[in-house]
Amino acid sequence: MTAGNNVTQAPWSALLARIPKVELHVHVVGSLRAGTLAELAREAGLALPRAADQLYRYQNFYDFIEIFRLASQVLLRAEHFERALYEYVEDAHSRGALAHVEFFFNPSYHYAQGVTYRTQLDGLLSGIRAVKRDFGVSALLVPSVDREFGADMAAQVLADVLSNRPDEVVGMGLDGPEDRGPPEAFAAIFAQIAAAGLRRTAHVCEDYAPTPAANYLACRDLLGCERFDHGYRVMTDPAVVARARDDGAIFTVCPKPSTRERDPIRLGAIRAMLEAGLRVTLATDDPAMFDTDIADAYQRIFPDVDVPGLRAVCETSIDACWLDEPGKSQLRRSLKAALGDLSAAGHPPQSASCLPSINSSPNKRP
Ligand SMILES: [Zn+2]
Repeated sequence: MTAGNNVTQAPWSALLARIPKVELHVHVVGSLRAGTLAELAREAGLALPRAADQLYRYQNFYDFIEIFRLASQVLLRAEHFERALYEYVEDAHSRGALAHVEFFFNPSYHYAQGVTYRTQLDGLLSGIRAVKRDFGVSALLVPSVDREFGADMAAQVLADVLSNRPDEVVGMGLDGPEDRGPPEAFAAIFAQIAAAGLRRTAHVCEDYAPTPAANYLACRDLLGCERFDHGYRVMTDPAVVARARDDGAIFTVCPKPSTRERDPIRLGAIRAMLEAGLRVTLATDDPAMFDTDIADAYQRIFPDVDVPGLRAVCETSIDACWLDEPGKSQLRRSLKAALGDLSAAGHPPQSASCLPSINSSPNKRP
């Protein structure tokens, strides 16, 4: 990474924050503000392991999982889901000019508390209407199945999804510990998801377990995924990298992992993916819990002036989102205007960083 220009560094950071952004990888539970979690836990009669302002400071990965479970248990009514979605968009819009977001939510996390899919959906749809009204931000929903809950639970979630089909539910995802549920185990479910006309994505090749890069190929071929969440470990196999590049595969990468110690590994992987010509979108995963936001995600990848690199990532995000074409066209117009403002502010059109422009990839899809 070349050193930034001292004169333009501060304005670049501020302008970067104002570029309209499309986020395709964020989980409702992981976006819950710590204060909201504490308040809802008190309402539910659940004890906090520590003070609210320390809740998201983890001792280790298992500590994070415990807090994540607690957060899942406090969302009990439709208005809780509405509030979670609303507050995330409020924060991301003000800090990072969020323009469109596609939320993962795991219905199965809430069944144990007696919270039905319909209740979750009603709250999230109310939130979507509210953020459109108050911030002009569009949002879609991607119900997700956790590998650890198994294929039977995935089938139950799919049945619920198919019994309630608002336009905002555009696809389904697969997440959870990748080493405890290979893609093959969900091939039959994903075939049903495809047959129902829903889009498909999966968490794959994450960096916390030594899973094979070939899982990318399994998600592509057996699950029919159109997007791939994370994907860092594809870089462990040059042949898979070449396949993904030839496929024009889009990875929804998240520059901030759960713990600070893993920051350099994650950033190194994303930079390597970009240098290899892979297409990525930037996202926050569990933003409140990982102490990040969408502006921070862009700042981590673009610390220095790099308009072509920024444009490529932003355009990829719009290409990869599951809005209809009029919605995408609106996003493209907003992006073009904002990038024009960036040039008018004196930022050079040529890259000042070592990151390559994805636009230069011969494999870029239209
Ligand atoms: Zn995720």
